Amino acid sequence: MPRPITAVIHAQALRQNLAVVRKLVPESKVFAVVKANAYGHGIERVYESFKTADGFALLDLEEAKRLRALGWTSPILLLEGVFSPQDLFDCSRYQLSFTVHSEQQLYWLQQHSEPARFDIFLKMNSGMNRLGFKPQQYRDIWQQLSQLDKVARITHMMHFSDADGQRFGQQGIDYQLSEFEATIQDLPGERSVSNSAAILRYQTRLQSDYVRGGIMLYGSSPDYPQHSIQDWGLAPTMSLRSEIIAIQHLNAHESVGYGSSYVAEQPITIGIVACGYADGYQRISATGTPVLVNGVRTGTIGRVSMDMLAVDLTPVPDARVGSEVVLWGTSSSGTVLPIDEVAATSGTIGYELMCGVTARVNFINQE
Ligand SMILES: *Cc1c(COP(=O)(O)O)cnc(C)c1O
Repeated sequence: MPRPITAVIHAQALRQNLAVVRKLVPESKVFAVVKANAYGHGIERVYESFKTADGFALLDLEEAKRLRALGWTSPILLLEGVFSPQDLFDCSRYQLSFTVHSEQQLYWLQQHSEPARFDIFLKMNSGMNRLGFKPQQYRDIWQQLSQLDKVARITHMMHFSDADGQRFGQQGIDYQLSEFEATIQDLPGERSVSNSAAILRYQTRLQSDYVRGGIMLYGSSPDYPQHSIQDWGLAPTMSLRSEIIAIQHLNAHESVGYGSSYVAEQPITIGIVACGYADGYQRISATGTPVLVNGVRTGTIGRVSMDMLAVDLTPVPDARVGSEVVLWGTSSSGTVLPIDEVAATSGTIGYELMCGVTARVNFINQE
């Protein structure tokens, strides 16, 4: 029998979360963001559930090719654009839309020798300061692009740095949005601005012909703890489940695991779970990080090791070897442990946990 740790991908939840996006922005076209192998879920595993999206957005050519191999014929957007002039040939061949964010990319495009009809998302740097053209430069670049025969269409694109919170004390989107709007003003073309946080929090204020929904599709709330997935009507799409493989009864003053970092104050029964940092569970997770045992909420105990961690069985007296443990997601009995709660007590965010499940974990699809 394989080691019991499993990542269950829930098709129904993927569809439900996409429906939440649709409902919030019914006028917008929806790119389902599937970068990083669909936020760790596996592109092939989410594809059927996301097929009703208007497009997919990602970073790697290889992932784009996988979508074409699955039979996807609608738009695919490369969010970081091309990484070399050769990539432009693949963009033609596989009909990929792509971001232009740098003068280097503009130059490659100008030099591209083959006839083409490229669909471009011109990226403005409105304050994130990672990729894109500053507002002062943007219109000039737009002019240059629009004169190229090989450019069929230019969409105005930007990315919010603070849609999940505040920016310098203002609402997170205000500053960047005003920069964006003042710059593109009268230029023709559609717009793509919203990520998950903007879709959830500002849908009524934003004109975004193409939204780019990522994390919300995977059942994590971008502004947790302000809002939980329950507040947004989202469901976990990945459940990391394992089992108890041993039970220990500690006397007072006994410890568990490396470094004896947890010492029992009184007698306690603990379960040893087949899950460790080599499965993608954060080693930094402190004692008390929430887990479900038999659908009952309890917490971790002591240090997470490579292949195992320990949990407090006090609230689950009926737990046995073989009892189900949910590290995040939904238990077989339907209890939900949002990934955001686990991430918060592990000093990270849901994004990192779901992207970090390692190759040795067995993935399965479930309705
Ligand atoms: C990852 C990404 C998104 C999706 O962001 P979420 O917070 O996961 O919704 C949108 N746009 C760009 C440019 C991205 O890189």
